[in-house]
Amino acid sequence: MISVDQAIELIKQTVAGTSGSVVLPLEEALGFVLAEDVLSTIDMPPFRQSAMDGYALCTNGELNYEVVGEVAAGSSLNPSLAPGEAVRIFTGAPVPDSANSIVIQERVSREGKEIILEEQPNPEANIRPQGEQLKKGQVALSAGHRLNPASVGLLASTGISRVRVSIKPKVSVVVTGDELMAAGTPLGHGQIYESNGIMLQSILLQKGYTSVSVVKARDNFDELKQTLEQAIADSDFTLVSGGISVGDYDFAGSALDALGVKEVFYKVKQKPGKPLFFGTKDDKLVFALPGNPASALSCFYSYVLLALKLWESDVEAAEPLRKAILTADFTKKGNRAQFLKARVNADSLTVLDGQASSMLQSFARANALAFIDEQTAQVKAGEEISYLKID
Ligand code: AMP
Ligand code: MG
Repeated sequence: MISVDQAIELIKQTVAGTSGSVVLPLEEALGFVLAEDVLSTIDMPPFRQSAMDGYALCTNGELNYEVVGEVAAGSSLNPSLAPGEAVRIFTGAPVPDSANSIVIQERVSREGKEIILEEQPNPEANIRPQGEQLKKGQVALSAGHRLNPASVGLLASTGISRVRVSIKPKVSVVVTGDELMAAGTPLGHGQIYESNGIMLQSILLQKGYTSVSVVKARDNFDELKQTLEQAIADSDFTLVSGGISVGDYDFAGSALDALGVKEVFYKVKQKPGKPLFFGTKDDKLVFALPGNPASALSCFYSYVLLALKLWESDVEAAEPLRKAILTADFTKKGNRAQFLKARVNADSLTVLDGQASSMLQSFARANALAFIDEQTAQVKAGEEISYLKID
């Protein structure tokens, strides 16, 4: 059995970034990872630009100036000012080449065509130099950056309308378990409602992986093997739910083996999620997640999400562990690392009731997975505890 750190390291070593990329219109690129550096096509700002509403001056060492015109945003005027002359100017407007300072309107008294300043203006005050943010040809955003609303805005501001991004993986979820019934059907004795399919689909969609199919297989070796074969053929990632433990009806491991899926690791020294399996078949990746719903979701946050992001060549694939102060003593049972459903509020972390791997109610309220490593037996109130942020 390997440690959590070893499992993460093996995922990092195994998952190579996809070679697939596609050019998308910027409107469709939010959430995709840039496949190449994006260079600015222009200087930003493209011209010397007023940062304020006020007066652009051609300074003469005096405090009074004559206003000889106006330059508004979008204007192409470039009036030539003599020393002692000024133009009314507005935020975003091009600053006349002959102006060397802008004084904001609040600091000026105006009478007719004359303005009087309160004090001598500073050279180039309130003027954004051309190319202040970016020069033409400079890297605006680097390969591996996942586009967020600000990055899309930045690229639009430099005149870019299309970007080359990594393709997103196709994901198949294979749900196993003869006891599982679809919501809306009556439950017989011994049956429960199936919930991992919709839960995994939901988190995939929330994380921007929209190509998801969910299929079900019975606890039967041949049927599961056939379903898995199809899923692996159809997708880049296959996530199996359940059937990976050691029960007589757990066929995921043997079916994957029979299909030639090579084990990278099986079993991680952690709670929940001990029976986690990760394997590959050529360039296809397979995770088998324990069927207990909280285990499956915990493993998704800790491992599957990392692998999905690495596949996209996201340079920030690994979510960092953060630190908070524990609000009440926590004593761990056993010597496995533990992921605990928790709520972080400002700097303090509270471990929630209901940590059993079958329970999702605590998970639904959690915004963090607290992490206690193998070696640590107890964390006391007031001590630091690591956690993974979830949403
Ligand atoms: P397994 O990993 O198949 O041994 O399942 C472990 C536990 O999780 C059992 O109690 C299952 O009934 C439950 N379980 C497995 N798959 C699901 C699922 N898709 N939805 C809800 N519970 C499940
Ligand atoms: Mg099962």
